[in-house]
Amino acid sequence: MIVTLTAEAPISTINAILAAANSAGCDARTFDDGHGGAVLGIAGSVTIAGLPGISAVLEKHRPYMLASREGRPHSPTVVKVGNVRIGGGRPMVIGGPCVIESRESLIEAAIATKAAGAGMLRGGAYKPRTSPYAFQGLGEDGLRYMAEAREVTGLPIVTEVMEPDQVDLVAHYADMLQLGSRNMANFPLLRRLGQANKPILLKRGFSATIEEWLMSAEYVMAHGNPNVVLCERGIRGFDTATRFMLDLTAVPLVKELSHLPIIVDPSHGTGRRSLVPRMALAGLAAGADGLIVEAHLDPDSALCDGPQTITMDELSHIIESGRVLHAALLTGLEHQDRLEAPAAIA
Ligand code: PEP
Ligand code: MN
Repeated sequence: MIVTLTAEAPISTINAILAAANSAGCDARTFDDGHGGAVLGIAGSVTIAGLPGISAVLEKHRPYMLASREGRPHSPTVVKVGNVRIGGGRPMVIGGPCVIESRESLIEAAIATKAAGAGMLRGGAYKPRTSPYAFQGLGEDGLRYMAEAREVTGLPIVTEVMEPDQVDLVAHYADMLQLGSRNMANFPLLRRLGQANKPILLKRGFSATIEEWLMSAEYVMAHGNPNVVLCERGIRGFDTATRFMLDLTAVPLVKELSHLPIIVDPSHGTGRRSLVPRMALAGLAAGADGLIVEAHLDPDSALCDGPQTITMDELSHIIESGRVLHAALLTGLEHQDRLEAPAAIA
């Protein structure tokens, strides 16, 4: 069940609910709702009548009760990453190379990414490559170069973590931990990310349904980490004309279903650099809280994902037009958000 508490709820109410859940043998988690109140997710049903400060009790809800918008329909989550925020306002653009190639090239790319107007830097140190013979990344050296690039530019950094045992190391350097598409249903890794003290960028598995994706977010949250940003990065379709099929319907749908922020990856979602600018803007038009875009100083020489990688100039154009588009859509989006009551659960 989901229980929502007002900002005025006494701590004794939370304690009483957690104690009732505990004695009923139900897992329970409590998170701030971002507005002074709290939301409790209880894996089961307990009696809590008569406690002060309870604003709603939902006995029926979606299986991802912590990630669901049902408990907090009017308070979308804003995730802080270093000194920036994702969700609830201006779209955040994350730019940078697919993979960290060398110290010098990364620092130069980071400076150009910042100059293009991006708010965060991406770059992989541990890469989930389809071929075991392809470049697998620079490992901890790459993480050090990312940290240095943050020193130079002030941009918070996001990088992928592939194994539970890598989480502490990657979290030591990075501001945000990326869980890649191929690992979306890696439950030991999800559990471990729930214990990390850094926000998580949770990419959609390319064969995952939206419910499976939100259940992966639930894993991270149920293990203690409420700071999850979802990323739509394309799913497998039947057509080989593009690398994946960027499912932009997922964006407004996820906004109806969940309070978590969602960003769009038009690079992996298309696999073709000529399609990236328009699909980036389409992602923002669909209501995304941001973008993650692969950009490189010389895309043709990129060590990974060159065909979908754009130049820094193109990144700058996307960011500029994205700002104009977002401002133009703002009034319409606000109107839309007022219409968006989440569907009642039967
Ligand atoms: C990436 O961001 O470089 C990446 C490997 O993404 P995905 O997990 O979405 O394929
Ligand atoms: Mn890539």
